[in-house]
Amino acid sequence: MTPMKNQVDNKLVAHVFRQNLQLASSLRRTIWKYAEEIKKREKIDLIKIMNFCGTHEWATTHYGIRSLMPPFLDLVPGPGCPVCVVPAYYVDVAVKLAGEGVRIYTFGDSFKLRSAKSGYPSSLQEAKAEGGDVKVVYSFLDAVKDASSSGKESAFFGIGFETTAPSYALALKEMVIPENLKLLSVARLTPPAMKYTIKLHQERGLLPIRGVIAPGHVSTIIGAAEWEFLPKALGMPAVVAGFEPLDVLMAIAQILLMIKQGKPSVKIEYKRLVEWGGNEYARKLIEEVFEKVYAAWRGIGFIPRSGLRLKGKFFEKHDALEHFGVPDLTPREFIYTHAHHGIPWEHDLPPRCRCGEVVVGIAKPTDCPMFLKGCSPDNPWGPCMVSSEGACTIWAKYESSARERKEEGG
Ligand code: SF4
Repeated sequence: MTPMKNQVDNKLVAHVFRQNLQLASSLRRTIWKYAEEIKKREKIDLIKIMNFCGTHEWATTHYGIRSLMPPFLDLVPGPGCPVCVVPAYYVDVAVKLAGEGVRIYTFGDSFKLRSAKSGYPSSLQEAKAEGGDVKVVYSFLDAVKDASSSGKESAFFGIGFETTAPSYALALKEMVIPENLKLLSVARLTPPAMKYTIKLHQERGLLPIRGVIAPGHVSTIIGAAEWEFLPKALGMPAVVAGFEPLDVLMAIAQILLMIKQGKPSVKIEYKRLVEWGGNEYARKLIEEVFEKVYAAWRGIGFIPRSGLRLKGKFFEKHDALEHFGVPDLTPREFIYTHAHHGIPWEHDLPPRCRCGEVVVGIAKPTDCPMFLKGCSPDNPWGPCMVSSEGACTIWAKYESSARERKEEGG
């Protein structure tokens, strides 16, 4: 690159930076203005907005967006971390199969995910250390290739939301999966969890969630239309947002404007990728291969039509639970956590872990007694500290007050 070209690029970067800064500062002023008007008019102490998605929580925390907000505007993380919400039962199933000689494929994110058992091994990482055949892969297709060449009895630990499910569905539909590879599907659907979380707040008389920053990536698949139940059934605004700091600021401003005007609807801020109807091809793929089932979310409970289970011929040929004769988890056996009111909490989570409340926005990571004391990104105790999308991991790495607390040894 010539010095002249470099100089031009630097000028351009500086120009864009200045413009973004001006826009961010103007959005910040708008947010304060709207929030103050709402607070005054409604005579309330706190306005609570939830971001569903772990990547939004990352952007909010990493870029210090909370520090720009009025003190009476609470931005809380939601259940949008696919690793955090995998019930301990399925971790135990995968660990047991690995111990029995089945090759287990997993994404790196779920490799360290612990079940709730105190014994050893209680994660796929520990199962591998014990000699279990566990392979970390980047994609489902990597597992397909490896299983095709090895011919070994194998299972894929299939976590994910609507963004990941099409990759499973496509491979299954195109019949590129060898007979020896099964899918342990713990894929989950996001709108039912959002609905459940809002209703949980309402039923328990908690400070209500007033608006939702809806997930950008998921909405590229399902479409913004899937969030229409928020304004229509729950009178709540939602903005499908991108993941840059300006996207998040824009979404907050739009939500507050809709609250202020009393006109809730679904807006698409992330227009560069999201359409109202989503990706029809990907949605059809999911429908063809999976059925929606009553499914468990770790720390939350069972949510109707929120899980994806293989159906028809795909179930018969490739369902891991069916093939290995393992019963699926049912509400009767599922041990609820304290996020589920009225039912005493037991151990779907490790002792003292408050991840069940963190994922539904009832508690903050810093409310947990284990946060950075026995539970850290290097040595996760609970599921919200495992993945880069987990609220506890994000707060441990980027939330300034949490870092200060660690430095002070508090
Ligand atoms: Fe669970 Fe660890 Fe988060 Fe506490 S800090 S809620 S133990 S994941």
